Amino acid sequence: MRYLSMLLLILVIAGNLLGEKRRDYPIKPVPFTAVKVGEGFWLPRMTTNREVTVRYDFKKCEETGRIANFARAGCLEDGGFQGIYFNDSDVAKVIEGAAYCLALQPDKELDEYLDRLIVKIAAAQEDDGYLYTARTIGDPKYNYPGKEKRWSHLAHGHELYNVGHMYEAAIAHYEATGKKTLLNVAIKNADLVCKTFGPDEGQIVDVPGHQEIEIGLVKLFRLTGDEKYLKQAKFFIDMRGRQDKRPKTYGTYTQDHKPLVQQEEAVGHAVRGGYFYAGVADVAALTGDEDYLEAIDRIWQDVVDCKLYIIGSVGQHGAGEGYAGAWKLDNTRAYNETCAAIALALWNQRMFLLHGDSKYADVLERVIYNGFLSGVSLSGDKFFYPNPLTCDMKFKFNHGAMERSPWFGCSCCPVNVVRFLPSLPGMVYAQKDDTAYVNLFINGTGKVELPDNNVKLTQKTRYPWDGKIRITITPEKAGEFALKVRIPGWALNKPLPSDLYKVKPADRFDWRPTWTVNGKSISSPLEKGYAVIRRSWEPGDVVEINLPMKAQRVTAHENVIPNRGRVAITRGPLVYCAEGADNKGKVLDLYLPEDPKLTPAFKPDLLGGVTVLTGTARSVSRAEDGSVVNKPKKITMVPYYAWCHRGANEMQVWLPEKKELAELAPIPTIASTSRVTASHSHGSDSTGAMNDQQEPKNSGDHDIPRHTWWDHKGTAEWVQYDFAEPKKVSSVAVYWFDDSGRGACRVPASWKVLYRDGKEWKPIKAPATPVVTKDKFNRFTFDSVTTDALRIEVELQKDFSGGILEWKVE
Ligand SMILES: [Zn+2]
Repeated sequence: MRYLSMLLLILVIAGNLLGEKRRDYPIKPVPFTAVKVGEGFWLPRMTTNREVTVRYDFKKCEETGRIANFARAGCLEDGGFQGIYFNDSDVAKVIEGAAYCLALQPDKELDEYLDRLIVKIAAAQEDDGYLYTARTIGDPKYNYPGKEKRWSHLAHGHELYNVGHMYEAAIAHYEATGKKTLLNVAIKNADLVCKTFGPDEGQIVDVPGHQEIEIGLVKLFRLTGDEKYLKQAKFFIDMRGRQDKRPKTYGTYTQDHKPLVQQEEAVGHAVRGGYFYAGVADVAALTGDEDYLEAIDRIWQDVVDCKLYIIGSVGQHGAGEGYAGAWKLDNTRAYNETCAAIALALWNQRMFLLHGDSKYADVLERVIYNGFLSGVSLSGDKFFYPNPLTCDMKFKFNHGAMERSPWFGCSCCPVNVVRFLPSLPGMVYAQKDDTAYVNLFINGTGKVELPDNNVKLTQKTRYPWDGKIRITITPEKAGEFALKVRIPGWALNKPLPSDLYKVKPADRFDWRPTWTVNGKSISSPLEKGYAVIRRSWEPGDVVEINLPMKAQRVTAHENVIPNRGRVAITRGPLVYCAEGADNKGKVLDLYLPEDPKLTPAFKPDLLGGVTVLTGTARSVSRAEDGSVVNKPKKITMVPYYAWCHRGANEMQVWLPEKKELAELAPIPTIASTSRVTASHSHGSDSTGAMNDQQEPKNSGDHDIPRHTWWDHKGTAEWVQYDFAEPKKVSSVAVYWFDDSGRGACRVPASWKVLYRDGKEWKPIKAPATPVVTKDKFNRFTFDSVTTDALRIEVELQKDFSGGILEWKVE
């Protein structure tokens, strides 16, 4: 065995000496440093990222102890561990983002800041290379998975995840500055990982619960040429789901339920999945492993067929931040973590480099203009973690808030944005043999190195607001080569590359995209989604692409139940939404008539400059006599990425086409006009769920808003209605939430009703005590009393929490 590997090594070295190129992605991306983004859509976002978000994220990392943890582990300062055990990774991600910014533009202050920060990180590293501040600090008061022993709880311990991000940061820092300070830390750690994990005697056979290190190891291999890092990445991939090789596997949540080559569909945590499939693509490209390729092709098809939101993101609430199964694409409870969008983009970029098909760039483009970009505010210092497609003003989708948040306890998303934005230009152009690819339409220039020529491509466009793109070709010398320009699927009436979403027949474009060279029309069939122009080019030749662009109504596949009878509006790569701020505060009451005629208009002063769509929709409301009426209502729609910059308000992407699906404002009742409070309400739930007049199907109804006292268990709790004015009341009806078989909420052990008399709470008088029953309203009648407030007190069952779906008062 040893002789064999020695022989292999000699062969590899000999191969290298002979100039033999090793296997890799057949298509090479043009690095982001060879692309200069000009004025237009992306430049302000990248400038804000560099000027605001990088510094802001570092400041937050300081304020929250993320950076002090390194100093403390390195004995540069005293104190215990602060925050969460995977916070080391956040610092790494901001360093990576900062390094990309440095690579694009010198910044002495930032450069020096990184130097000081890296001193702390290097100090935190143990002598043998181990880097994990939670353990090195050894704070007896801080508990985390695997505290007992190194590498003992990889399912949740994140030891390998943290350093994976550190490798990426270190390489970015080295490439931007030429300094090896962080790279040395990364290599020392990676060497320890390679020594610790493997198939040999004395090594651990295990995998990281949160993938990411695979990508980092491959990057280390590319930089150093040291095969062991590639082998290590492959080992982690090969050992996933291997119940025959490991004492314990970690199940579907971590894509560890079966070996990769047997996996058929996307399951589990969406960020882990995205990083995993991206890492597999890297290793497949470098090793030529056909089984790997088949596996990720299959999984990709599964995602685009039935698990991808129209905004180009993945993952659901209640599914462990992950895939909930085929067609399960709920809108209010869409999770669509910003990190999952980024992971999906990284994966799709790699799929393009493997296959050269534009459908991967179609997904990538949908992600970057929608599900990713919504994750960071225009100001660069407020963030979405989940990105839902409806805001009902009840469900606090953004980890306990209904607005963009300045930071999160687990703040993976804000620090992921900061590294993704500056690297985005690296996805615009690519090259294979004597072919230059144009995948994204972004103003500016890209330098493509062909085997016999260097070519500068200059794009001029108002994309995504306009479908005209002008590309000036400036080769170093005149000569023949091919230009492949992506014709986006959306321009051919295919919003995403599957039949999950379809443009309504009436809204299909009545002309096809066109392209010209120096004004002369070219017509050739598309190749894998690309317009191919092969000719002898002269400096100054101009290619003009004209893509049809208009507002289109898109329907979802029949199997997506929440979207039945609804349409989403797209225009080019953008998905639109209706937001309260533009529509008199309410949008859930809207529905679109058969022919809504949505007209575009560019508003330079709105939301950083956006094209809005306006038209006449209809809305449902109640007349004075209580009857339901519908009438025309002006509708204004804004790009989804730009929503929620004007306070918390209703938002909807999938608009009903029929009045029956439009939401009526609640009928004014004692309950619906009351102010609702509770002893405690879980961050993702809402006290407003109790009086929203949404009738539960059963006690385990997860499709409507709820109030829960989660995670209080076995305690005494209360909820309270403060009436709009004093009323005579004689009964209440309560529908308890109980998720037996799924969670730890149960109907309460007992409950009682109190009324307010002046400042005092008094028990109501009743002939019987209230009963507790699942799956129906628990009606409780008592001696009538005039009061301005009612309170329900509950005793939760021992070891269980509880909640309420609806509470009526009569
Ligand atoms: Zn995240």
